Amino acid sequence: MRAFLCLKTQQLVIRVLSPSAAVRWGAAQSRFLCSSSPEESKSRPSMLRHLTTKLKATGPITVAEYMREVLTNPVTGYYVRNNMLGPDGDFITSPEISQIFGELLGVWIISEWMGAGRPKQLQLVELGPGKGSLAGDVLRVLSQLRSVLGEASVSLHLVEVSPALSLLQAQNLTRSCSQEADSEDEPVYRRGETAAGLPVSWYRRLDDVPAGFSIFVAHEFFDALPIHKFQRTQKGWREVMVDIDPDKPDKLRFVVAPSPTLASSTLVQADERRDHVEVCAEGGVIVQQLSKRITEEGGATLIADYGHDGTKTDTFRGFKGHQLHDVLSSPGSADLTADVDFSYLRRMAGGGVACLGPVSQRTFLKNMGIDTRMQVLLRSCVDPTTRKQLISSYDMLTNPIKMGERFHFFSLLHHSRLAKPKKTEGLKLDKKKSPAPLPVAGFTELSIS
Ligand code: SAH
Repeated sequence: MRAFLCLKTQQLVIRVLSPSAAVRWGAAQSRFLCSSSPEESKSRPSMLRHLTTKLKATGPITVAEYMREVLTNPVTGYYVRNNMLGPDGDFITSPEISQIFGELLGVWIISEWMGAGRPKQLQLVELGPGKGSLAGDVLRVLSQLRSVLGEASVSLHLVEVSPALSLLQAQNLTRSCSQEADSEDEPVYRRGETAAGLPVSWYRRLDDVPAGFSIFVAHEFFDALPIHKFQRTQKGWREVMVDIDPDKPDKLRFVVAPSPTLASSTLVQADERRDHVEVCAEGGVIVQQLSKRITEEGGATLIADYGHDGTKTDTFRGFKGHQLHDVLSSPGSADLTADVDFSYLRRMAGGGVACLGPVSQRTFLKNMGIDTRMQVLLRSCVDPTTRKQLISSYDMLTNPIKMGERFHFFSLLHHSRLAKPKKTEGLKLDKKKSPAPLPVAGFTELSIS
């Protein structure tokens, strides 16, 4: 049975035959592969001015508050103002490197929908969709495998804080066929329709996405959420804060809070062994919401990001123009990010859902059949330049010293998804009627035997 079911996922991979080259950018840099920055570039004074005014009024702020202001302040926030993705931006992500990435995630989504018993409604929800490339690749797979989806009604829901990026997503996904809501208070702030007629809705918060069977995808989303930083001192855990440098009034610096803060008293685990920890409380709340939704409505979540399993200490960093950037310098002009602590997400998910992973991107993509997909593409590709690009993007995604071992996949699943079939007393088990659960693609090795 297992082999048969694995074969099914493999067949889905083979059936996703896209005529295009599957390469977006040849030799771009990811946020993880950047060299250190030699430059100190032009500042964006409005954000610095905003922060110094705030700091003068309130005193030092937490790193989480600093990060939130810098990244998502509705007027001057980095994500709100910029198009930061791609070779001309500050960093590049896997979906931007090759469409194979999104296609394989599309197969994962269909496989999970099948594993859940093919519900009639499928809400595809992406958190932080960037340019919309991943969603576009997933939708293409869904339309190529429309016969598998049968009569299921599919809709796309995008949780995006940046109006500028939502517009870009709308251009890419709906051929500009989208409309902004009349009032800013509407939970759905933009609506549109894909070329294939699928409804697309944009929300600022996950809370606003309607209830219903959903598959959630978050690629390089959790690393952009604000983190608190804590340091072990002789007096106990203290929070690291951001303040104005007293010697240079237009410069910021880190300080350690002299007494406990609410966050340092509540967010550090009693048995914590590290001397320095980063906790993404906002990410924890989002995982709790996802977990509750999956428990109540069914569905699954796939989180892909760089991160660790509760081992790393100091990962807060900035990126600008594909270079590392001082997190406190020219705030608002650079991306700020921190590794995702998957052990924290697992703890916050609680017992209501089953957690799988983290597994490395290399393992996940290989389990999803990236090698088979590459063979299919290379077989139909004669242009030497395109072949070279295909091979180099494959290498970028899977090479252990590139993105292969640094990025990880983590999943939240409804418990029923992994449950063994119950034995019916007194009756002989008919294997066809009582199948073992479908293996979770990506987290289980694909085998054709
Ligand atoms: N997933 C995309 C983009 C990653 S960048 C990719 O991999 O290419 C992070 C994305 O999350 C951006 O779209 C950004 O605007 C969005 N984002 C950041 N913080 C957010 C928040 N608090 N709520 C919703 N979206 C957020």
